[in-house]
This record gives sequence, C-alpha cells and structure tokens, in this order.
Amino acid sequence: MNISSTRVRFAPSPTGHLHIGGARTALYNYLFARRNGGSMLLRIEDTDRNRYVEGSEEQLIKDLKWLGINWDEGPDVGGIHSPYTQSERTKLHRSHAEHLVNIGKAYYCFCNKARLKSIRSGYNKYDGHCRDTDTNITLQRVASGEEHTIRFRSPNRGTTTVNDLIRKNITVQNEQLEDFILFKSDGFPVYHLAAMVDDHVMGITHVIRGEEWLSSLAKHALIIRAFGWSEPVWCHLSVLKQPGGKGKMSKRDAKTEEHPDSHSIFVHDLRNRGFHPGAIINWMVLMGWSLDDKQEDFNLVDLEKVFDLERINPSPAAVNFGKLDHFQGKYVRQMSESEIAANIKPFLFKSGLEPDDTMMSKLVPLIKNRIVTFEDSVQWLSFFFKKEIILAPSDLVGKKSTIKETLVILQQVKLTLEQLPSLEHENIESKLRLLANKLDLKLGQLLNPVRLAISGQQVSPPLFETLEILGSDLVLDRIQEAIKLLEDIY
Ligand code: GLU
Repeated sequence: MNISSTRVRFAPSPTGHLHIGGARTALYNYLFARRNGGSMLLRIEDTDRNRYVEGSEEQLIKDLKWLGINWDEGPDVGGIHSPYTQSERTKLHRSHAEHLVNIGKAYYCFCNKARLKSIRSGYNKYDGHCRDTDTNITLQRVASGEEHTIRFRSPNRGTTTVNDLIRKNITVQNEQLEDFILFKSDGFPVYHLAAMVDDHVMGITHVIRGEEWLSSLAKHALIIRAFGWSEPVWCHLSVLKQPGGKGKMSKRDAKTEEHPDSHSIFVHDLRNRGFHPGAIINWMVLMGWSLDDKQEDFNLVDLEKVFDLERINPSPAAVNFGKLDHFQGKYVRQMSESEIAANIKPFLFKSGLEPDDTMMSKLVPLIKNRIVTFEDSVQWLSFFFKKEIILAPSDLVGKKSTIKETLVILQQVKLTLEQLPSLEHENIESKLRLLANKLDLKLGQLLNPVRLAISGQQVSPPLFETLEILGSDLVLDRIQEAIKLLEDIY
C-alpha cells in the first residue's frame, strides 16, 4: 500500500464532553496521519438518537482544535466524502443493509419488543426466529410497511479470527455471536453497520480506536467480509485506568482521598482550569506510547515526525495527574512573564478581580514558579486586589502561640513598619529579622500572623515582596484591623 494514501478517522459519538480517553484516540489518529503524509477525518457518529447530547459536537470540535488536533475532512471543513455526520448518511447505510439481505448475508426480522423480551429471559441472544423465513414473504411484509429490523446472519459454527496490529490474532467462537441488528426499526443504522460502511466508502486504511471496541471486532470483520471488502489495519488502544491503576477511568472527577492531586478527565475542565494544551498533549501521548522508553518531552511538531503505531503499548495505562502537573510546570517556566500575565488575567477577571498591567508585572515574578495551572493564580493573588479580607480572629493565632503573644507581634511589626520611610522588601526584611531577634522569636513565628493579617491566608507569595507591593497604607490598615480583632477577643 502506498503509505501516503493512509486515511484514518476519529469517529466520536456526540454523547457528552470530550474526555482524555477520546482525546488520546484522536491524537494518535492525527499523529499517524501526519507522520505518513496521509489524511485525518472527523466523523460524527450520531445514529444512536437516545444518547445524543445537544451541543456536544460543537464542544468536541472546539476542544480538539484547542488541543491543536486538526483534520483534513470533517463536518466543519467538508471533503470529498461529505456528509461526515453519520445521521445524514442513513440512505447509504440502508441500501448496504438491503444489499446484504439480497446476497443472503442478512435478513429482515419482524420480532416485536415483547417477543424479544420473552426470549431474552430464556437465552442470552436472539433465537433466530426470522432467520429462515422465505424472502418473498419478508419482502412483502416490508413493502406493506410492517415494522422490522435487519439482522446480520452470523455464522453458527467455527471461529472468526481478526488480526490487530498490536494485539495480534484475536479469535472468537462463532457460536457466541448472535444475529445482531444492522438496521433498526427507527430508520437508523446500528453503529456496527454504519461505521463499517462509512469506513469503507471513505477509504479508511487504519482503524485506531479504544479497546472497548475489541469485543465488537469480530462483528465488524464479519460485516466487512460479507461485503467482500478488504479490512483496514486494526489497532485497539488500551483502556485508561484510574490513578493507581484500579478501575477503568470514567468518573467525572478523579479526585479521591487516595489521589488528592487528581483533576477532571474532561478536556474542557482542564482548559477551564488553565492547563496549557501542549502540556495535555505531552501527557496524553505517553499514556500508552513511547518513543524509546526514555524521552519524555514532546510537542506536536516533534510527534508528527516520530509517532508510529508499533510503539503503542497494549497494556492498560494508569492516568497519572502528577505527570500532567509536571508538564504544565515546564510550559509555564518556558513562558515570558508577559505571556504568563496574559494567561492569568482572564482567571482573575472571572473571579471578579480587576488586575492592572503594572500590578501584574510586579506579581508574576512572585508566583511564576509556584503555580501549576493559571487558575491557581487566583488563590495566590486575590488578596492583592480585594478591598477587604475576611479573617476569623482565631485564624491569626498560631497553634503554639497565644492571643497575647500574637497581639504583641502585630503591634511591634506595625510599629517597625510605620517607622520605615517606604516599604522596600530588603529593608523590611532586615528590620523584621532584627525584631524577631529582639522578641526572641524565630522569623517564621513573627511572620505567620503578619502573613495572615495582610493576606487572610496561611500561604502567600514571599512576604517581604508582598508587603512592598501592597504598599504601606494597605499593610498598616490590615495589620491594624487584625490587632482590633484580637483586642476584641482578648
Ligand atoms: N462512535 C464510536 C465511539 O464513540 C467510535 C468507535 C470507532 O472508532 O469505531 O466510540
């Protein structure tokens, strides 16, 4: 096969948000197409109308594009095989299903729901009731408008073997297969038929998709063989497991007590939290693929040159959110301060804060090595912009301290800072170190109540710089406020 004729597709069903499992499948397809100079298609598989979620197709396209994953043909960009939305191709699916009936590989079935329910309680598969009904009769019943489905005539005996590129031969006992439905009574094809017809018509050479489709692989191969078509190269990617490798990754938010550093598995949530798309790509590509078991840092441009299917690992990969934070950190560290500021600002605005550029240029250097996501900046910085900070007096008093001691510290710090002509961090530092010595306290003991008084939190950017940026009016006001709170309870 001419390798540049490689054609792959990402074929999501619009049933909700894009999660990292789906995004990884899209990524591998995209990279494989680019590596081989082939084409990537996006096909929306929306024939299961019960699972359809309004708006999810648009969101999915947005999420993929944000990640940097593009396609050459698809519902939004068109292409020679338009339409790329499966529900608009039902005529084609119907005629193919009828063709299978004509050549004896499929049959019309008139069993109603009640009958199917009654046989399901006895067998676990369809009993073949309509399998051998005379075709002339069934055609008449179809023509008269009787409700029906079209079922595949599965082989009863023998085995079906299909080759997967990374899993090798997979063999199924045919007696386990039922005469599954190809075309439903609601006028829509079943996914198995629709996908195989579309893959063939669209010239798909490699089907790269999730392991959950492995159990349908024999059906798919049988459909293709019934038409007399040649099979694509099959490549089933491993499932993603929850952090720690326990269950399959499917929860909305993977945060658990065991894994408090976990994040949502949905791309748009990660985006909303301020992860960099490049960090997500780097993280995802390594969940089941490696170049040489050594190199870890990749970007899309590099990957398009080196990705191949042979290096995909068929064993399940556990999602490791710590690794995402790691790659995110690398992206942030590579950015200029003004780029970081530009990424942070929308998150501050979203929290109702009003950052200005002068302030941002002072703040970014303080937090750029401390944040993981851009959203984290809200926690680090909001007290700089708030008019008031809310404090419970008990928060101010450290575990090993008393109200009295804390009061003394704050009063002494206030006095010291008041005597400085202006707040410059070097100056503040030397004066507060002297004060700690004088009061016979460790520097930390002295600074903790000050940090709480001016920020309302236990953790803040470096305190001396923070005091300088806040400026003496605000600092002295906030310390005074904290003193008042303590005096009230003393
Ligand atoms: N529509 C299927 C899904 O969303 C695609 C399966 C396939 O790629 O063949 O999982």
